Amino acid sequence: MSYNPYDNVLATVENAAKILGYAKDEYEVVKYPERELKVNIPVKMDDGSIRVFEGFRVQHSTARGPAKGGIRFHQNVNKDEVKALSAWMTFKCATADIPYGGGKGGIIVNPSELSSGELERLTRRFAKEIAPIIGPDKDIPAPDVGTNAELMGWFLDSYNTVTSSHSPAVVTGKPLCLGGSKGRNEATGRGIMFNTMYLLEKHNIDIHDATIAIQGMGNVGSQSARLLHEAGAKIVAVSDVSGGAFNPNGLNISAICAYLAEKKGNTLAGYNEEGLVRISNEELLESDVTVLIPAALENQINADNADKIRAKMIVEGANGPTTVEADEILEKKGIPVVPDILANSGGVVVSYFEWVQNKQGYYWEEDEVNEKLRAKMYSAFNAVYDMAKEKNVSMRTGAYLISLKRVVEAEKARGI
Ligand code: NAD
Repeated sequence: MSYNPYDNVLATVENAAKILGYAKDEYEVVKYPERELKVNIPVKMDDGSIRVFEGFRVQHSTARGPAKGGIRFHQNVNKDEVKALSAWMTFKCATADIPYGGGKGGIIVNPSELSSGELERLTRRFAKEIAPIIGPDKDIPAPDVGTNAELMGWFLDSYNTVTSSHSPAVVTGKPLCLGGSKGRNEATGRGIMFNTMYLLEKHNIDIHDATIAIQGMGNVGSQSARLLHEAGAKIVAVSDVSGGAFNPNGLNISAICAYLAEKKGNTLAGYNEEGLVRISNEELLESDVTVLIPAALENQINADNADKIRAKMIVEGANGPTTVEADEILEKKGIPVVPDILANSGGVVVSYFEWVQNKQGYYWEEDEVNEKLRAKMYSAFNAVYDMAKEKNVSMRTGAYLISLKRVVEAEKARGI
């Protein structure tokens, strides 16, 4: 069955609008992205040949502020995925109550097949192609799957070159020496750690008694693993594109993170430790743990496996890892889910702090960044949790009730 993540967005919005009692005209505009740009990006490859890559930038909403959202480099990127990711950014920024709308970009490319030079040329040309619609007060990209701080540095330099400007605030998640924020690299994982701790507290579970399985060991998965491990949780299973690793006594997270960071291309398949058992990604998702954290891609928990989920609770590190059908099954099973637009919002919250620091030209210490992030996560988590309790709905619906209301309010105030 072909799966369109934008249908997921529409179903969630419709559901929240119904509960809020909105007439169709009140929220119709939110169902359509404001702007969708497709670009073709020619790149000279190392062997001298030319390859043309397809890329997208979608701005779902600028009602509450400039569009904000990452750039994904992945072979399965497509326009509907980028549209869905841009809409999730709108609702994520509104849930966290930061003054941004939502946007997202992507290129259809497997970055692991490109040399560093090819990646740089691709990133720079993409920046040039989307430069007319982005800017510090228009649309601010950041890293996502397959991209990182180094690429944001190239992106920044190309944008500054084509616009003859010095605009560090055009992109976040950039290297510290170019105006990046302390704490940004860990921010999404730190936000996931806070949300996991708050949910455990609500269920009277001590973090030291919690076992955790994490799908995906990229930026989000590895930082979540590291910080939750430091907070006292036992990480028993992790996975990446090569498969999973399980250790009932708790995995050696520092050793795993060090191994993965050691060399480009290192995957869990090449890692070993005493007591480690190899498992598949399917087995990881179905493992018997306190908390499951999907932190890879969309659509991982779906109608085919939702019934087999044994985790007591789920905290969504990835964007859109649970389909609408799976959500219903999990709700019936009584498994609470901290939704993506809340759980992984730590990244965009610290991106916002980075942008504020760039605009002020004044930089904060890491403790200050982390404390401001904690305060934001605490109020967002409790607002969503309380809303879900009050309306007797899931936390996902609770988050959409809060965020859709904020977006619609802004649209109305503009007279739209
Ligand atoms: P990344 O590229 O750094 O890592 C992705 C990880 O997922 C890798 O370990 C990869 O091996 C693994 N993976 C890929 N396909 C898989 C599969 N089929 N099964 C298991 N693992 C698989 O990406 P990231 O930045 O960590 O992003 C992960 C998710 O979190 C995405 O959904 C992204 O949109 C979301 N997110 C990222 C940020 C951020 O700040 N980077 C912020 C919010 C949300």
